[in-house]
Amino acid sequence: MSTQSEFSLIDSYFTGTTSERDDVILGIGDDCALLQCPADHVVAVSIDTLVSGVHFFADVDAETLGHKSLAVGLSDLAAMGAKPAWFTLAITLPDSNEAWLQGFSQGLSKLANRHNIQLVGGDTTKGPLTISIQVHGFVKAEQALCRNQAQAGDLIYVSGSLGDAGAALQLKLDQWHDEQLTEQDLQYLIQRLEKPTPRNGLGIKLRDYATSAIDISDGLSSDLGHILNKSGFGATINLAELPLSAALKKIPHETAAQFALNSGDDYELCFTIPAARQQEFESQFANECSLIGTIEAKHGLRIIQLDGQQQIMTGAGGYDHFSA
Ligand SMILES: [Mg+2]
Repeated sequence: MSTQSEFSLIDSYFTGTTSERDDVILGIGDDCALLQCPADHVVAVSIDTLVSGVHFFADVDAETLGHKSLAVGLSDLAAMGAKPAWFTLAITLPDSNEAWLQGFSQGLSKLANRHNIQLVGGDTTKGPLTISIQVHGFVKAEQALCRNQAQAGDLIYVSGSLGDAGAALQLKLDQWHDEQLTEQDLQYLIQRLEKPTPRNGLGIKLRDYATSAIDISDGLSSDLGHILNKSGFGATINLAELPLSAALKKIPHETAAQFALNSGDDYELCFTIPAARQQEFESQFANECSLIGTIEAKHGLRIIQLDGQQQIMTGAGGYDHFSA
């Protein structure tokens, strides 16, 4: 595409669609945006690329894709305890389909405006459908929720419910179904996969409590594994305590628990809290967060199964079975 068509695509469909922030000195339309970071804060930055046929179904609705493309970045900001501020967008499109761009822009801007995050730059090119979004947020350096600060004895919590998106993906791939699920349950699960809710409000409140945090994009077992590796500790989690939605409570517990433990795309938060603050934390957050385990000095991830037996997770989706 020529420079002119690049400019007009961004100009027509994206300029002015997101809230105008005071800290944007110069937004879309020049070679660079000029942005003002508040004193005493640092900028948290993260980029995600979504590729058609790899990260989303090629026939997904444009508005839904607009939502999800930004939601995954917002979720990373939530996991750092950073307040969303700005984002940039690069779209590669097979052709300049106006209806598609309109829908995509709507999904994107609706979510952006809910979080007061402003689009400050973009680029469009021609090619297989690919979306890259880089998000920027503010946090005080000493308050950022890093993966490497969990301590032995800390309690492990997750927000919301787990496994919904993973169940939805298996449904969409026709690899799994359960007779107990109603049409409403199916719609709920698909919504969780396609339109995840990033936990930014919670992420900011967790600055006052959490020693470490991560968002669950790849699956609890592997994302918690990142906290354990970076912090240099191990953990035991209890499969029976993994929070399940009303829909997943209808299916066999063993199946639901495996979705909750291993499947990704939920975009909930997993974080650690010093045990001494359990009561104080739960008095405020018991409704939206669940205690699932404990950080331990002994390395490795130990899972207490539904039958009470303990298994050691070795990573790469495999277990080492042993009787405790
Ligand atoms: Mg992440």
